[in-house]
Amino acid sequence: MNAKESIELVDVSNAGKVEIDKKCSKCTQSICCNSINQKIPTPKSKEDFDHLLWQVSHENINVFKDADGWFLHIFTRCSHLQDGGVCGIYDERPWVCREYDNDFCEYDESIKEASELWFATHKKLEKYCRKRFKKWDRRFELYE
Ligand code: SF4
Ligand code: SF4
Repeated sequence: MNAKESIELVDVSNAGKVEIDKKCSKCTQSICCNSINQKIPTPKSKEDFDHLLWQVSHENINVFKDADGWFLHIFTRCSHLQDGGVCGIYDERPWVCREYDNDFCEYDESIKEASELWFATHKKLEKYCRKRFKKWDRRFELYE
């Protein structure tokens, strides 16, 4: 979701040489263009968490909570990301990319590190659910 503004190739010499932002040039994985975060309603009930369990069971899906709330984190490479971390649609890139800057970004601290809660697997989220809800294991009976 990065704007890649800082990665835009800038011809500084008129001789074909380019200068690339130092921080982004070190970020060889172009981290911010390889995932999306989707805000979700704050899960409260057993049903809510049961639904998250289903979601986190899928490949490349994580669930996290930080100061802004709860999110799905999806590892998925943007189809516009080109070799060298260049955005293939730089002039038409979406707002979310334009607004992102690299002052303090995922290169400095991963979303996992910055999160209060991070669940990458069904097992970890289920463990949390058992602590949070006394009758977690009886939830299916209670739904009926
Ligand atoms: S559109 Fe461009 S800046 Fe936005 S995520 Fe894709 S490659 Fe990155
Ligand atoms: S994660 Fe940060 S350093 Fe890496 S490409 Fe995105 S803005 Fe640049």
